[in-house]
Order: sequence, then C-alpha cells, then structure tokens
Amino acid sequence: MFQTEPSVFTTLESEVRSYCRGWPVVFDRARGSYLYDEDGRPFLDFFAGAGSLNYGHNNPVLKRALLDYLERDGITHGLDMSTTAKRAFLESFRDLVLRPRGLDHKVMFPGPTGTNAVEAALKLARKVKGRESIISFTNAFHGMSLGALAVTGNAFKRAGAGIPLVHGTPMPFDDYLDGRTPDFIWFERLLDDAGSGLNKPAAVIVETVQGEGGVNVARPEWLRGLADLCRRHDMLLIVDDIQMGCGRTGPFFSFEEAGIVPDIITVSKSISGYGLPMSLTLFRPELDIWEPGEHNGTFRGNNPAFVTAAAALNVYWADGQTEKQTIGRGEQTEAALRVIAAEQAHAGGAYRGRGLVWGLTFDDPARAEAICHRAFELGLLLETSGPRGEVVKLLPALTITPEELDEGLRVLARAVRDTE
Ligand code: PLP
Repeated sequence: MFQTEPSVFTTLESEVRSYCRGWPVVFDRARGSYLYDEDGRPFLDFFAGAGSLNYGHNNPVLKRALLDYLERDGITHGLDMSTTAKRAFLESFRDLVLRPRGLDHKVMFPGPTGTNAVEAALKLARKVKGRESIISFTNAFHGMSLGALAVTGNAFKRAGAGIPLVHGTPMPFDDYLDGRTPDFIWFERLLDDAGSGLNKPAAVIVETVQGEGGVNVARPEWLRGLADLCRRHDMLLIVDDIQMGCGRTGPFFSFEEAGIVPDIITVSKSISGYGLPMSLTLFRPELDIWEPGEHNGTFRGNNPAFVTAAAALNVYWADGQTEKQTIGRGEQTEAALRVIAAEQAHAGGAYRGRGLVWGLTFDDPARAEAICHRAFELGLLLETSGPRGEVVKLLPALTITPEELDEGLRVLARAVRDTE
C-alpha cells in the first residue's frame, strides 16, 4: 500500500527530509481537512501544515481571492515596495486585529519564515536595549537559524548548528519543576544577585503554549507574572505566536487570555491563511528604531500571501465567531481525550491543551510514535512533539467540521487501542 521502492525522493532529495518519512505516500491534492495521495486515498489532516493551515487546505474563499489577483496580473514579487495588496492587508490587519485589541504595534515584514521573524525580534530587542543576553525557556522552539536556535531547547536541533550557540539563557517554563517551587524564584534571584553571573538580559522570548516542545501550556497567571517580571527588570517581552497565534488557542493572539501586551510579537504560519510563506514582527511604536534596510530580505513582499491573508482576516476575524467555534471544537476534542486517557490510566495516559492544540502522552515515550504510525495506516495524519517525540500532537484546522473532528478522534482512539 505504501511506497517502498527507491524513488527520486529517496535517491535525489537530501537525507534531511523528515515528515515524508512518517507519511510514506506521494500526496497530490488537498481540500479542507483532507489530503489525497496520488492513488486518491484520503487522509484526514490533524497536523494542518504544522499550524500553517488553520483555515484548511485550499480554502475556497481564499483561493478565489488569489485566483482573481493572479488572473489580473497583480504583483507577485514586490521586495518591500508599496503595493495595493500590501495596503489592503495592512488596513485589514489594523482594523480587524490591532485596533479592536487596543494594540498600537508597528508591523514589520521580515523574511517569510517564522525563524526570520524571530531573528528580527531578537535583533531589535538587542539594538533597543544595547544588551546581548536573551532569556528563553526550557523546551522552547523558535526556529532553525542561528539566533533562533540559540534560544531553542532541543539538544538535537541545537547540535545541528555546528558552532557554539551563545547569548541565550534558558529558564524553567511553567510547571517545569512540577509546581514544587514558586514561579520565577530562580529567574528573579539571578536577576537580583550581582554575583549570579547572569548578564542583564535585553529580552525574554516565550511561547504561551509550547507546540514543538510538547504542548506545554503556560497558565495565564504565569504569563502575567512573567510580564510583570519583565517590566520590573527592564527586559522586553517577546511572545513568539508563530504556531499558537492566528486563532489556534481561540483568540487571534494566544496571549489575549492572559491579558498581557507583549513588547514584540512574532506571527507567521497561518497568517497568510493559505499556507503561503509570510511572517510579521510586531512591536510597540517606540521600539521602531530600525534604520532603513537594516533587516532586509528579497522575499519580504509575498503579495499573493498578502491577498489571502487579507481575505482570511475579513472572512474569519471580522467578528467573534472563529474564536467561539475553536473553543467549542476544543471542548469536543478534550471530551474524547478524557475518555482515551481514562481508558489508558494503567499506561499513564494524560492529555493537555487549549483551543485546538492538544497533546496526548503516555509513560512509555515510544508509544506516541507507534500511535502516529498506526493512525497513518488508518488514514489520519498526526505528528509527535516534545524533546523525545513523546507527545501525540493534535493540530486540526480550525475550520474542521464537528463530524470530521469526531471521525479523527475515533481513529485516534483506535490507534491508541491497537498499540497497546
Ligand atoms: N517559532 C515557533 C513557536 C514555531 O513553532 C516555529 C515552527 O514550528 C518557528 C518559530 C519557526 O518557524 P519556521 O519553521 O517557519 O522557520
């Protein structure tokens, strides 16, 4: 059933390829929450392009906007020139995202990947504060380029750098010490003690829910405590909302629930709405001390992405419907995971999550991989996360129907049973 023969993928494409190893078919088409392989076999997608397809594959409304734009020879590549597509996106982003949330952040277009948005955020924080040191958190993931990798936790990914990763210091994420110590006790002690050896940080970078790190959910009060710590110690707060933003946890920004306002915010993945590369680095206006072209890049003006991004904001974020629906689908997911975890209590089954990002764990770290493998055989795409790949991560499109979600959760339950 699945490809085993040598192919151009295995003979020509680099050994660095990864997702295709867990899903050894050749995909051809996709629509909504389904992908189809070249033989027409459907796969229900609980991965959503690692969070880049919050509105599903080839969303028809966004596709129409894109086709109309291409048909009329709208600008495709635009460096960072002013274009009508960029203007429409910026106006929609201001009117539908920033203003309703009382945010006056400036919008920067870095290179189109998430890691480039993080690089821009770190550079700016260092430039503003005139300090090198950045605080990150255990199990953080911020990207593969050197600056972002220096604030990423995963030892395997870090080793790939091949050079020392410096000027980043990890601190315990929420609940890293199993709730046995008061929040930030170590962090604050180091900041207060002139003998601690910690260089005064320019900024702290945090994910509100660590997606790659194992679906670790920070409590709102922990995030508020962090924002307060940053203010008291003159450190900028960077929220990396690349995976958890664009509605993944419910509200547009994942930090809204905590009621905090980060100094700098990174956004990517689902911002274009269509899986087209696009990133934003947002910052409070007084931090905008960039010189023209100081963080440049050829692909900062992905105009087709601006078109689908503006359409996505207008379709999904003009009212509170998307947030409400995501919370509802999240409750549906949680109810199913509760049953699975109860049935698997003997194996240490447990779950955690928020909105439409959930993680399922077991005592045996190998179980997650076995479940994802079995789910694939049964036609469901699921990935693992966590430092040892020990967490089954559920990341369906926000537009998934209740019936599709139910079907995927049933397949997951079967995969769990089949791997006992
Ligand atoms: N930051 C977070 C929180 C992410 O989840 C990711 C990717 O998974 C990145 C940064 C890096 O984004 P990209 O892979 O587009 O460079």
